Amino acid sequence: MKTVIMAGGRGTRIASLNAEVPKPMIRIDGKPIFEYQMECLKKHNLTDIILVIGHLGNIIEEFFGNSGQYGVYITYVREDVPLGTAGALYYMKDIITDDFLLINGDIIFDVDFSLFLAAHRRNHSLATIFTHPNSHPYDSGIIVADKDRFVTKWLTKEEERKWYKNRVNAGMHILSPTILKRFEIPEKKDLDRDILKPLIAERQLSVYDSPEYVKDMGTPDRYYSVEQDIKSGLTAKRNLSVKQKAIFLDRDGTVNKYVGFLKSIDDLVLLDGVSEAIKMINKSGYLAIIITNQPVIARGEVSWEELTEIHNKMETLLGNEGAYIDDIFCCPHHPDRGYAGERTVYKKVCDCRKPKPGLILQAAKKYNIDLHESWMVGDSFSDMEAGRNAGCNIAYVGTENVKDILAASNLLECIRKIFEKVEIK
Ligand SMILES: [Zn+2]
Repeated sequence: MKTVIMAGGRGTRIASLNAEVPKPMIRIDGKPIFEYQMECLKKHNLTDIILVIGHLGNIIEEFFGNSGQYGVYITYVREDVPLGTAGALYYMKDIITDDFLLINGDIIFDVDFSLFLAAHRRNHSLATIFTHPNSHPYDSGIIVADKDRFVTKWLTKEEERKWYKNRVNAGMHILSPTILKRFEIPEKKDLDRDILKPLIAERQLSVYDSPEYVKDMGTPDRYYSVEQDIKSGLTAKRNLSVKQKAIFLDRDGTVNKYVGFLKSIDDLVLLDGVSEAIKMINKSGYLAIIITNQPVIARGEVSWEELTEIHNKMETLLGNEGAYIDDIFCCPHHPDRGYAGERTVYKKVCDCRKPKPGLILQAAKKYNIDLHESWMVGDSFSDMEAGRNAGCNIAYVGTENVKDILAASNLLECIRKIFEKVEIK
């Protein structure tokens, strides 16, 4: 697979840090961004790189050359006139004949590209966007997709939204070469507006949701946080080819206020300190994953659409405070039949209803999680048992007297105690 990196634009957004340097040459911990990018691509055998350069591009060319010394091969495409974030793809028409990776020049990433490519092939669409939750969804464009991962809406940051899933474009894409036929002349084009968004109506644009590390350096603050993450090793730890650690969180009574069966979206209220607690998890290198029994589906009291909206509200409230969850696993089943309005298809004995470990095992498989290094946190004994059954460490949130279990009266205190134990500051 060929990789195209768009590095033509000026690094104006962080110009205050590096005045006259093209984006790929901005140094983090002494090393240019492009060098980090190449290292990760090389690790996944993506050695055929096309670098689109413009303003001050000669500095990049002089520094890296064809980059035999890094074990990759670079072809340069020089823009004399800036062609925006996609216009230069016109020049790839004859060079690229297979699915290719398209990457923004100002991001730091550590990603298992084989998984991304496999997802793209599974999607059977012309383009797949690498998407993820971030810590500032309220001022980011939000991508809405259906259950088959096709994009149905792409909200700009100015557009009104109420409750939404925290899903943001990370700046990496896999495109089919068919798309290149749409470039008729070399002219200025915006990747999102002119190329990707028109694919929505054709049902040809998909998402790949991943918790791996991809961050842009849009502001000086974000630049410094990326530098810190590189130094601490967090970027590499999040690559799904290496074993992950997770903190699994029960939902009702742990994250949001317990109201019995939660049927109305208005009843979803976050508990105090939960955003702070989840933010701590987000920064730690652990994944934050919700594990919840929702028999309200089997009971016919809440539809899948309503449940999705309830979870969108939870993600929005967390996102407003800079916190996000990496995924939600949900058991819709219930074993007892014979009630009015029930959905019999979900009335069965399943493997995923806590205290069974099914949901945790599903998450472990999806994200390559080491369960012995992970924690299940909840407010009930069935949470504790599910965690134990899955081979996780367990922690209890609540006021009961429990023996030999890490316990705290609220989630924030609980996460602090866990991190003291595993020595995360
Ligand atoms: Zn189930």
